Amino acid sequence: MAAPAADIIACVTATPFPHLLAPLDLGFTTLPNRVLMGSMHTGLEDRAADYPRLAAYFAERARGGVGLIVTGGIAPNIAGWAKPFAGKLTNAREVARHRLVTQAVHAEGGKVCMQILHTGRYAYHPLAVAPSRLKAPISPFTPRALTRFGISRQIAAFARCAGLAREAGYDGVEVMGSEGYFINEFIAARTNRRRDDWGGPYENRMRLPVEIVRRVREAVGRDFIIIYRLSMLDLVEGGSSWDEIVTLARAVEHAGATIINTGIGWHEARIPTIATLVPRAAFTWVTRRLRGEVSVPLVTSNRINDPVVAEQVLARGDADMVSMARPLLADPDFVRKAASGRADEINTCIACNQACLDHVFEQKVASCLVNPRASHETLLSYAPAVRSKRVAVVGAGPAGLACATIAAGRGHHVTLFEASSTIGGQFNMARRIPGKEEFSETIRYFARQIELRGVDLRLGERATAQGLASGGFDEIVIATGVLPRKPAIDGIDHPKVLSYVDVLLHGREVGGSVALIGAGGIGFDVAEYLAHEPPAPGHDAAAEFLRAWGVDTSLGRRGGLTAEGPAMAQSRRQIWLLQRKPTPPGRDLGKTTGWIHRTELRNRGVQMVAGVGYERIDDTGLMITTKAGPRLLEVDNVVVCAGQEPLRSLVAELSGVGRQAHLIGGAKLAAELDARRAIDEGSRLAASF
Ligand code: FAD
Ligand code: NAP
Ligand code: SF4
Repeated sequence: MAAPAADIIACVTATPFPHLLAPLDLGFTTLPNRVLMGSMHTGLEDRAADYPRLAAYFAERARGGVGLIVTGGIAPNIAGWAKPFAGKLTNAREVARHRLVTQAVHAEGGKVCMQILHTGRYAYHPLAVAPSRLKAPISPFTPRALTRFGISRQIAAFARCAGLAREAGYDGVEVMGSEGYFINEFIAARTNRRRDDWGGPYENRMRLPVEIVRRVREAVGRDFIIIYRLSMLDLVEGGSSWDEIVTLARAVEHAGATIINTGIGWHEARIPTIATLVPRAAFTWVTRRLRGEVSVPLVTSNRINDPVVAEQVLARGDADMVSMARPLLADPDFVRKAASGRADEINTCIACNQACLDHVFEQKVASCLVNPRASHETLLSYAPAVRSKRVAVVGAGPAGLACATIAAGRGHHVTLFEASSTIGGQFNMARRIPGKEEFSETIRYFARQIELRGVDLRLGERATAQGLASGGFDEIVIATGVLPRKPAIDGIDHPKVLSYVDVLLHGREVGGSVALIGAGGIGFDVAEYLAHEPPAPGHDAAAEFLRAWGVDTSLGRRGGLTAEGPAMAQSRRQIWLLQRKPTPPGRDLGKTTGWIHRTELRNRGVQMVAGVGYERIDDTGLMITTKAGPRLLEVDNVVVCAGQEPLRSLVAELSGVGRQAHLIGGAKLAAELDARRAIDEGSRLAASF
């Protein structure tokens, strides 16, 4: 076994992160620091053939120094499957594949717990079981209500699964008791309508988790970690009261839990809990409320993506550990970098969900927008190049930045041309959208990589075909991005017409009433930008977010919801968000985040209109046709957000002088472009030469 991150322990004395890097003594074992890699389903858990890949993914995180890893959810039986043939641990054959994971993690000096996840009525298959026969709003399947015998079989399955996890070499298990899954469904009266001794009064409803922890402890012995993930804030009507949560925490500790982890929000809740608009560490106050009520260590969670924030959370006593899942997809070396004074080199998770959770919901393997190697460690290598080449990359947007920095990291001599005065491309607009400030972190990360890897950055230099052809480059990469589309509408050159670039990048003034042509991702973002007032000096972003979305921070009501519900400030501007398609605007936004953008705009009073025809723009405003007939929108401005065209004239010009070039990102294909594709293409190209 490798030394447990000795360099990290050595750094603790002189670190700006003394709380984060402090070891945690659990009695029978000691964790090297306070970072728990939270459970995150990757999709690799579901197929035996993917376990070597899963092992490599976790090994890389263990090597990066994380204190304790928790795997994605593994079902204790078929009824608990997340979907048909999802990962489970019920027999010796499955033990063997899990051993690949534990051995790989231990070889790197890490520790790993397996999460036991029974999905209950959230299961996406017809064998679903639950306390009562109540369909979840997020699953098409109605569960079967368990008999008393059925309940005892589920408990036995948890205990057997934990025993097998121990046999497979895990250091512990996490019992998933939150997020609205099976165990949580027993706890909340909302989903538990039973009249036997598993339903009714709270002492009956909490019997299942307590019995599971007790039986798991019996099965695994004393020197084995049991984390219980407790729903501390359900964020649904009919959820637990705070007194009930405290009672359960104490009972679970008494039953044998080693650590209690925080769960925030059921999956069916309609309050964002991890999306990028959620301010950093916005929910750690909930865990803090439980401190002093139990004596086992508490883990806090949600939107902690930065060592400075994690340190503050621990230093002010909100918890004993912090859980980070997505931030460790984004950067497996998060802890090692923080510990060795290189926090500015961390590739920060921007909480976009685009390549992780959205992928899982689309039945694809999870990865990361800012780190396409995540869960592709065995498939995408950035090994040193066999021959060092001279490489020109044109355009310092996400595609060009990924390509240039990875190519330089592999030993190539890279010159990066950027026509504007700054790197980042369109991310310089994205980061100005309220709630998308995290996008600045990606620019900061690449800026640091450019320095570290010695990329020759030529800001303010618009590359030309002649210059590139005569520059002695072995490889030329065109990453010049896109041009905003200018639709052919009568009056499109009227002075009241602006493009989204005018508004977001050049700060052009927009009047009190505005129509947006195009309701894609950028149309929604521009509407958000125009609907918000600049924050007052000293405003508390987390408090404002919780108030706006209707979270009861006094914890006086069940589920942690205010009686009034969301209270978002109405836009002072009158905003029309228009599209030609008859489908509901925003339907194609991210799977796990689209509903948030739609809710925000609706609550702020933005008028979303589909099935629009654009007739003309003039001094009076924008004339449109809808199903109801012609209509004049008397607006001060029209902002065009009608998609983009690729900008790649350099390719043809280079070809004219006999040079071939690689095309990536928006320059390659503007349709359905996003940063996930741009960074992925840049990274893969850089890995290939
Ligand atoms: P670009 O980012 O367009 O970069 C191209 C660069 O090339 C520019 O910096 C340009 O100045 C430079 N250039 C052009 N010609 C030359 C030349 N001849 N010489 C030198 N330099 C040149 N995507 C997401 O995935 N998620 C989001 O949430 C998201 N939000 C967005 C919000 C907004 C408001 C906007 C505008 C975009 C958003 N995007 C988002 C889209 C994302 O930013 C783009 O997909 C991504 O930037 C495309 O990367 P790229 O490198 O291909 O091109
Ligand atoms: P988009 O999503 O393709 O949307 C373009 C919009 O313009 C559509 O509403 C389209 O709707 C309209 N349109 C297209 N051609 C038009 C024309 N000729 N005349 C009038 N309207 C026209 O593109 P985008 O909004 O510019 O976003 C660019 C990329 O950035 C997207 O692919 C997106 O993935 C990414 N992005 C993502 C996010 C995110 O949150 N994930 C946020 C911002 C941007 P109709 O054709 O129906 O009118
Ligand atoms: Fe974070 Fe986005 Fe990467 Fe997911 S895809 S880990 S949310 S940066």
